[in-house]
Amino acid sequence: MVFTRRVLTRTYTDYTRYRRYLRPDFLYRCAYCLRHEYFLGGEAGCVIDHHRPQGGPYARPDLVCFYSNLHWCCNECNSIKGDTWPSLEEYEAGRRFLDPCTPEDDHDLHWRVEPDGSLIALTPTGAYTIANLLLWRPHLIYHRAQVIRWEHERAELVRLSDAYDLDEAGHELVAARLAELSSWIEPPVFDRPRRSRE
Ligand SMILES: [Zn+2]
Repeated sequence: MVFTRRVLTRTYTDYTRYRRYLRPDFLYRCAYCLRHEYFLGGEAGCVIDHHRPQGGPYARPDLVCFYSNLHWCCNECNSIKGDTWPSLEEYEAGRRFLDPCTPEDDHDLHWRVEPDGSLIALTPTGAYTIANLLLWRPHLIYHRAQVIRWEHERAELVRLSDAYDLDEAGHELVAARLAELSSWIEPPVFDRPRRSRE
C-alpha cells in the first residue's frame, strides 16, 4: 500500500496540528502495520509518528514539524519504534524503515503476506522494518489472516449469488453478509469523541 500526502500550503510549529491532514492522507491506517483505526479503538488508537525520530542518537529536531516526516501510526508500532533508526552502514545496505509515502516503498514490494497472515521479507528494507517494528506480533498475523478470509468470502459470495438462482430471503442474507464483510474490509471512520461544552 502506498499513501499519498497532500501538499500543504501552510506549516505549523506544533506538529499535532497536522493530525487532521495525516488521518485521511494515511487512509485512517497505521503507516507500518496497516491496521485501520476501526480495529484500534478509533482515532485514539493512533498517534503521530516521527519517521526520523525526535530523540536518540539519530534525532532530527529540525524535522519535528516537517509534514513529510510525520506518519499516522498505531500506538503499538509507535512505542515499539521509539527512537530506533538505522546506522549509516545499515541505511546504505538498505536496512531501514520503509516510508510508505514513496512508490518504491510500497509495502507489497518489501514483503509478501502469506495466506496465514505471516510476512515474508523480500528486501533488506522489508526485513529491517519487520524486525524493528515486531510486525510478526501474533495478533497482527491473526488480523492479516482474518482480512484475507473476509476478502475471499466476499469474492465467493458474489460468485455464488451470481451462479445460483436465490430466492428473496437468500438475496437478503447474502446482501447482509456482503455489507458486513465490506464494513470490515473498508471500515467506517469514527472521530475521537469531543466533550460537549454544555
Ligand atoms: Zn501499527
